[in-house]
Amino acid sequence: KPSSPCPPDKDQLGRATWTFLHTAAAYYPERPTPHQRANMLSLIRALPVLYPCAHCAEDFGERVAQNPPDVSGRAGLSRWLCERHNEVNEKLGKEPFDCAIGKTDERWRDGPADGSCD
Ligand code: FAD
Repeated sequence: KPSSPCPPDKDQLGRATWTFLHTAAAYYPERPTPHQRANMLSLIRALPVLYPCAHCAEDFGERVAQNPPDVSGRAGLSRWLCERHNEVNEKLGKEPFDCAIGKTDERWRDGPADGSCD
């Protein structure tokens, strides 16, 4: 009998959440409406309250409080999120990611120029 899928552990949850957040930032409008800005702010501010890893949520809440989210447009949001992710990377002893818009776009929206993800 095939085994049923396991609930996500902290790392799987993290990868899935970062995938969603970076992809949402990569497709966020250049010039968001006030409605879009307010909802993106709500989405980010919900994480410290609802993210289902208590110490991750608390830590992220402190980072958000110290660095107010830039929801002004796609480039600013992508950078803001990349920088927050890098703070978590640093805490966990992982390599930082290059937060230039070209790099976040390649990873989360366009894929590499060689077309290997097309
Ligand atoms: P991940 O860090 O999950 O990254 C996924 C992919 O994103 C990478 O393979 C890379 O291609 C890309 N990437 C990496 N860095 C960046 C960046 N800066 N910008 C854009 N793209 C990038 N884990 C803990 O153990 N303790 C914590 O306190 C903790 N806090 C977290 C807080 C939040 C809000 C989230 C979403 C996750 C948190 N995690 C925490 C999980 C942790 O960040 C990782 O997701 C997990 O360790 C798995 O790491 P990974 O090496 O597979 O890649």
